[in-house]
Amino acid sequence: MVGVQVRWDAPVAAGGGKGGTSKIVKATGVETVGHLPGIFPRRYVRKGALSELEELTEGDMLSLVGEVVSSQQKTYQDRRTHRTAYRLEVRVRAEDGRLLLTYFDRAKHTADWRAGQLARGTVAVFSGRLKWFNGEWQLTNPDYKTFGGEGQPEMPDLIPIYSAASGVNSWVFEDTIRLALDLVEDVPEVLPPVVREAEDLIGAHEALRWIHRPDTWAQKVSAEKRLKYDEAFVAQTVLARRRAAIEATVANPRPGRADGLLAAFDERLPFELTRGQRAVGEEIAAELGEGHPMHRLLQGEVGSGKTVVALRAMLQVIDSGGQAALLAPTEVLAQQHQRSITTMLGELAEAGLLGGSDVGTRVTLLTGSLSAAARRRALAEAAGGEAGIVIGTHALLEEKVQLADLGLVVVDEQHRFGVEQRAALSGKAGLPPHVLVMTATPIPRTVAMTVFGDLDTSTLSELPAGRGDVQTNVVPTRARPAWLERAWERVREEVAKDRQAYVVCSRIDPGDAGEGDADSGAKVPLHAVEELAPELAAGALDGLRVQMLHGRMPADEKDRVMQAFAAGEVDVLVSTTVIEVGVDVPNATVMVILDADRFGVSQLHQLRGRIGRGGHAGLCLLVTGVDPATSSMERLVAVAGTRDGFELSRIDLEQRREGNVLGTEQSGGRGGGLKLLSVLRDEDVIERARTAATEHLAKDPDLSRTPALAEAVRRLEDSEQASYLEMA
Ligand code: ADP
Ligand code: MG
Repeated sequence: MVGVQVRWDAPVAAGGGKGGTSKIVKATGVETVGHLPGIFPRRYVRKGALSELEELTEGDMLSLVGEVVSSQQKTYQDRRTHRTAYRLEVRVRAEDGRLLLTYFDRAKHTADWRAGQLARGTVAVFSGRLKWFNGEWQLTNPDYKTFGGEGQPEMPDLIPIYSAASGVNSWVFEDTIRLALDLVEDVPEVLPPVVREAEDLIGAHEALRWIHRPDTWAQKVSAEKRLKYDEAFVAQTVLARRRAAIEATVANPRPGRADGLLAAFDERLPFELTRGQRAVGEEIAAELGEGHPMHRLLQGEVGSGKTVVALRAMLQVIDSGGQAALLAPTEVLAQQHQRSITTMLGELAEAGLLGGSDVGTRVTLLTGSLSAAARRRALAEAAGGEAGIVIGTHALLEEKVQLADLGLVVVDEQHRFGVEQRAALSGKAGLPPHVLVMTATPIPRTVAMTVFGDLDTSTLSELPAGRGDVQTNVVPTRARPAWLERAWERVREEVAKDRQAYVVCSRIDPGDAGEGDADSGAKVPLHAVEELAPELAAGALDGLRVQMLHGRMPADEKDRVMQAFAAGEVDVLVSTTVIEVGVDVPNATVMVILDADRFGVSQLHQLRGRIGRGGHAGLCLLVTGVDPATSSMERLVAVAGTRDGFELSRIDLEQRREGNVLGTEQSGGRGGGLKLLSVLRDEDVIERARTAATEHLAKDPDLSRTPALAEAVRRLEDSEQASYLEMA
């Protein structure tokens, strides 16, 4: 191989592919030699450290480096063949513990050969699955690689451990990547020289060498610093390009007018806007008046009053002759928006009707379940422009839906909407419309910058005055079965005070995988709406007006139940998460969430946001049968402990991230996504990279002066990881 050089972008086979390479190709899907060094070690072990044993459970892969302290060959009778077989018991000492390894061999010569290889004093890296046997941890038939023998390399101080989850041994990765790094001649430099200098970073080739085979911890740290910055810089360049593209796009300015709908609406508003609502409102108003499209993310706690802010923006657009579309994630929410917006507008929503205002407009609902006649009418109002505001679910995205002059798209609770959907709606306007995205799941700043990098963000941090407190308690039915009874009693007490209650289940009917929990590995049967509602009505909540609500009910039935609940004609609503977002019934004060462990942090936070919306104190009970010592329980306790959405979204992200790490899936070299960079911990890096990327793009708008960067950007844009940047 001496003297052979391969190009960075050569197909992997050309890199001297042997057995190991082809295994890696299969396991990770890498395509070019240059992708190989993009598979980073998961961690490093120092000579002698038996790391992470405490964190592991049976069946997990363990890699360790250690010295054989005893090695004993034993014989036994094989039960099947009735012949003598051989068992080698090897004890390995690492710095922080010892472990038993057991090898089984049928033939004497292989048994002897292995015993020779793993003689006392041998130093090796071992890798295998953990098993608890005879009261101790063991590895059975682990793979190994020895060091320091004849013709073998000396053991380095730090040994990279690659994820073995894909079925390929850590040192197969190590050897193959080492070979690739030795052979490639042209490791691309994605960073412009000035940026590299300003950040005091090592070169790209060196960084890859040092991440894969550091001589010292300091080298590993410098390598990581450089590669992290690369990730941040490439991602921020993608986002900066997107922002630049938006800025270069022409949109219809919608400055509004002084004596229009908006002014009339403000006149009749029954409450004072909060300071935040006013500030954000001004920001939006100014942007709508500009000649390129607004792309703004409005985040604010549940109940912070985002709808009014959005409605005022819609009215400004109508005042400038345009229409606004409001996209809601569920039919229930679309209907509620239509009702509450129509109510807020009053006579202003009755244009063309007797008694309607002459500056008025119309609010039209367009969902999938309208009758044919209603749908025709809605379509005509949208296409003819009589409807200033068109509210709907994804039915709005269908091709048949035409709008006369779409000026603003408002997306409520955006985590349910993908980017293509945003695009489909935008495609209905002649010029690209302004876009306002609302979310009640607050996002840490850096996440917003990375994930929503093409959106500017505004935050409503205060709640309107006079909101009640909500207390949250975990009800562990395993430890305290009687507490569930107490929960139903609390519901009765609230209803006795003329308040209302939500009971939330994760499933519709008992035979059901439930809404979005197909991976249910649950041992206890989960509560289901269709079973629990009659059960409660006949039992614990006997005498109360109990109704159910779930996604499989016909739309008009759902609407009827929701209206009855809003009107106080129903005491207890037993439902699935259809009530999760946006539902606004201020008189509801208690919520019992069953199988609360089935829900994620932000889902629980959203659900809980349905109570405490009036002036009354609220109570949220998280009922769960999970073990006290599980991460599920930890999550519930965290949710019970704070109502700060930012804090909760941090917890959420950390838990999900942990899930990724434990999943130990090597993402391969394919995408260009985030491998080392943490959106939570590397705030400063992201921030500096954002500034640098924006500055660089101003100097080299089409990236023609930095081809390696252009290529990395293209890869990121192409990869499925781009959807990560968009946040599906
Ligand atoms: P969210 O931000 O969760 O979507 P909403 O827009 O649904 O919140 O508002 C929650 C409730 O607060 C609604 O009933 C709304 O009319 C009311 N509201 C909004 N702004 C104010 C305000 N400034 N003062 C009092 N009530 C308000
Ligand atoms: Mg809302």
